[in-house]
Amino acid sequence: MDHLPIFLRVQDRETVVVGGGAVAARKAELLARCGSRVTLVAPELSRPAADLVARERGRVRHLPAAFEPQQLAEATLVVAATDSPYINASVAAAASERHLPVNVVDDLRLSSFILPAIVDRSPVIVAIGSQGTAPVLARRLREQLEALLPARLGALARFAGARRSAVQQALRPSERRPFWERILGGAVSERVLADDAGAADAAFARELATFRDGRPKVGEVYLIGAGPGDPDLLTLRALQLLQQADVVLYDRLVSQGVLDRARREAERIFVGKSLGGCRTDQERIHELMVSHAERGARVARLKGGDPLIFGRGGEEIRVLARRGIPVTVVPGITAGLAAAAAAAIPLTQREIAQSVTFAAGHVADGDGLDWHAFARPRHTVVFYMAVSQMEDIVSRLLAAGAPRERPAAVVERATLPGERVLRGSLGEIASLARAERIAAPALLIIGDVAAAERGEAAIQSLTEALRGVA
Ligand code: SAH
Repeated sequence: MDHLPIFLRVQDRETVVVGGGAVAARKAELLARCGSRVTLVAPELSRPAADLVARERGRVRHLPAAFEPQQLAEATLVVAATDSPYINASVAAAASERHLPVNVVDDLRLSSFILPAIVDRSPVIVAIGSQGTAPVLARRLREQLEALLPARLGALARFAGARRSAVQQALRPSERRPFWERILGGAVSERVLADDAGAADAAFARELATFRDGRPKVGEVYLIGAGPGDPDLLTLRALQLLQQADVVLYDRLVSQGVLDRARREAERIFVGKSLGGCRTDQERIHELMVSHAERGARVARLKGGDPLIFGRGGEEIRVLARRGIPVTVVPGITAGLAAAAAAAIPLTQREIAQSVTFAAGHVADGDGLDWHAFARPRHTVVFYMAVSQMEDIVSRLLAAGAPRERPAAVVERATLPGERVLRGSLGEIASLARAERIAAPALLIIGDVAAAERGEAAIQSLTEALRGVA
């Protein structure tokens, strides 16, 4: 980060925009919208600039002259938006001599500040910048945020703003943050966003009264699937809840990128387990979840992939239910689905596979798995936790009648940096994986669908072959 993001007050202050074209007009319009008195310096104005001056009479004034440094005497901020690099450079020089913040349009080198892309939900403003590297990317982000942020977000901010001093009087400083978290993340804010002022007011008053009485408030637990690693694969719900959690308990498989999406002030606690997880590890997790929730915290329990697939999510839900702690489960993209996508393997496909099994790959001791079912044609099996036991898995499948030529794939670190996809036949996949030093986390996918990458022709002939069998 080499730019400091700030919100600068320009209301009723003088600003100068040098240039008379459409870009200059846009910058002047933005400054006028923020309440600044803008001087447009240009010998002549383009049509949009002239329109702006006419429309914003009193806010935007035209100075019909060439640029000269003394025009900056009253300015608090300067924008250079001419199409002459020479004039732009002299504006930048004059501004920096006066220690004035200056932006030269499309010239990072001459600018001391950059104008961000903006989502305006006044009084809430989201500013997005790429530090000059990719303005178009920033603009795309803005479009996404526009879609994501409730239209009445500004109303919610005003609702809170109007009650701040009442809360300040009613609650001790240490209580205020958790109180506002509760208001803004809960039913009250939903009423405000739904434009139901009466209900919002009543709910707010009720919340404040209970809070003041000091009645113990139980927190809650969000059991969140963090997906396979790439933070862009988090669900919107996961993101929203991560943003309001006070405590984050996370596993080994939760990537840094995902953790970075949690609220900055949230306490992060690593509760990763060694393979399989021993009993004490799991009990400690239960204790941590319960104790934080019982002191009123919102606890995000983040698990790799989906919390209910090989994640012991079921046990955690049971423990919380027994203690009367509310729990919200947010599904995540399980590694099997992410790996299939990474390798472009359809887990089911008409005529080739009609069913799929997610199986745990540590098969050493009495596994109780139905290997004959796995070995059947037109069935796909995805083995989790398979790296160390690949030989075992393969030999059991072969023993159960699966052909050595059945296609297989290993996907290592799906969606993470260093992702690798390895393909081969069932007979050779284990030695291939060993030779390539495949390491956890990785998945093994077995089934005719794994050959799909060989193209339509392969699928076609396979389909015909299967028809022949049937
Ligand atoms: N709840 C998780 C699975 C936990 S078991 C889920 O739904 O995905 C842990 C196993 O998941 C690992 O041994 C590995 O087989 C698999 N796994 C998790 N993340 C992975 C990734 N990014 N790439 C490949 N396999 C992964």
